[in-house]
Amino acid sequence: MLLQVRDLVVDYGPIRALHGISFEVHEGEVVTLVGANGAGKSTTLRALSGLVKPTSGEVSFDGRRIEGRPGHAIARMGLVQVPEGRRPFVDMTVRENLLLGAFHRSRAEQRAGMERVFGSFPRLRERINQTAGTLSGGELQMLATGRGLMARPRLLMLDEPSMGLSPILVQEIFSIIREINREGTSILLVEQNAWMALGIAHRAYVLETGRVVLSGSAAELRENPRVKSAYLGE
Ligand code: ATP
Repeated sequence: MLLQVRDLVVDYGPIRALHGISFEVHEGEVVTLVGANGAGKSTTLRALSGLVKPTSGEVSFDGRRIEGRPGHAIARMGLVQVPEGRRPFVDMTVRENLLLGAFHRSRAEQRAGMERVFGSFPRLRERINQTAGTLSGGELQMLATGRGLMARPRLLMLDEPSMGLSPILVQEIFSIIREINREGTSILLVEQNAWMALGIAHRAYVLETGRVVLSGSAAELRENPRVKSAYLGE
């Protein structure tokens, strides 16, 4: 088991955002958490990557307990988050932004990492010396994902990669995510676009107001009447 989450509770002051959720990701899987706005998807990722401290519960990554550890230690273990909103450093170039994802690695590793990222995102190579502020929405998502990949994650966590993108770009980003997974990186994907997410995931969990209300194979959930009416617009 690569990631195991048990009874995770997260509070923001008096507000309970997660009421004890449990789920897991096996090595090699794409797992998606789907749910509406405010269901607790981003909070889950933030708690896993050490950005918020859980109130209670257990998180094991590769057999080691990580809940409450600092974010940089968690990232070094290979659990890496691509944040929602794709906030790169707009005055820095594509190259500089990518290098930030691997600042603690050797030059040779950084070069190899950059080649890997350009393999997935050829468009970033063409933009390598441009500042991030000049990129389109889709290119920013590529840059954010590429920066995550530079850290050589074992599990890459993506928060709403489809947000604000045109349908064509959403297709492109999702096919790249699938490709990154085929090359050996496990993926935990948070999405409001349940149809696309269930299209590339192996398994899925449905979150509603801080609780897991359904789980199963992505194919099963796509056929589930409750999922269809609540999330697939059918
Ligand atoms: P979205 O897609 O809008 O990000 P989400 O499923 O990721 O939705 P969260 O952002 O995790 O949901 O929010 C879960 C709950 O926690 C919501 O009720 C939200 O209002 C609350 N919340 C999130 N961040 C904070 C915060 N910094 N302070 C207080 N409450 C918060």
